[in-house]
Amino acid sequence: MSENSVFKDDLFEGKRVFITGGATGMGLGFAQAFLNHGAKVIIASRKEDKLEEAAAITKEKFGKELLWKTMDVRNNETVEEVANFIKSEWDELDILINNAAGNFVAPIASMSENAWRAVVDIVLDGTFRVSKACYPLLRKARSASIVNIIANYAWNAAPFVGHSGAAKAGVLNLTRTLALEWANDNIRVNALCPGVVLTENVKRNLMLDEDTAKTFEDYIPVGGITDSEKMAQQVLYLCSPAADVITGDMLIADGGQWLVGNAFYQMGKKFLDE
Ligand code: NAP
Repeated sequence: MSENSVFKDDLFEGKRVFITGGATGMGLGFAQAFLNHGAKVIIASRKEDKLEEAAAITKEKFGKELLWKTMDVRNNETVEEVANFIKSEWDELDILINNAAGNFVAPIASMSENAWRAVVDIVLDGTFRVSKACYPLLRKARSASIVNIIANYAWNAAPFVGHSGAAKAGVLNLTRTLALEWANDNIRVNALCPGVVLTENVKRNLMLDEDTAKTFEDYIPVGGITDSEKMAQQVLYLCSPAADVITGDMLIADGGQWLVGNAFYQMGKKFLDE
């Protein structure tokens, strides 16, 4: 079932997992990895057709049921509706992955306030809304884990993706705050910081073409541009009992990219020249 995984097939047997933005890209990779290790999974995002497609593909490929609900993390009512759905299905929640995000390349000088607000609303405010709505379900589980998906420009400059950088920086701080506030409930809260993962969205909005991808490659000391399956392994680790002494931390899984230089600066300059 999980042939490329280093983890036992039953590592998450019976665990209940909720993933925002789980119908595409990395979120879908996380969902399938948890299912293939025995968990039950609910995903939620805005587009019904994508959610349906994700469930159908997962059924066809792995023979597993992927539950889904439509939800816009910018709309608290829909977030509450999904939390109620989780409560009615499972009553409790063991794992929450705050993965939903929006991003596009734009220098601050030409960024509209709406564009800024949209990204901050999804990434930072959305993480707040979903975490808060799921808190009563998470604290009911004997031990729970939240993983917030950030990016390696969260603690550094984020040239040409400044809205996302500011929002992810906020999520990193929120990760550490919740790690302390919810420690007594035995809820661990960590962040995963992926490297460059060539999802459809990245191809469409950030990479633009193969040349730009090569520019990124030059800034990645080990592992190169990676994939959702590899990132899923990091999430599985953070949610596993092996990591039960880890909270308020971030796992930087970017092949050392952030140590080398700011690839977004190089890529963004190229984008502006075109
Ligand atoms: P992706 O495929 O575009 O996934 C983002 C998901 O978020 C989509 O399924 C989208 O579905 C959902 N979403 C967007 N706005 C939403 C909203 N308002 N409410 C609910 N769901 C919403 O992108 P990805 O590349 O897999 O990225 C996944 C995560 O990794 C993101 O947090 C991203 O910032 C982070 N990350 C990615 C990379 C990379 O190289 N790919 C690097 C570093 C960090 P709908 O549009 O249907 O709502």
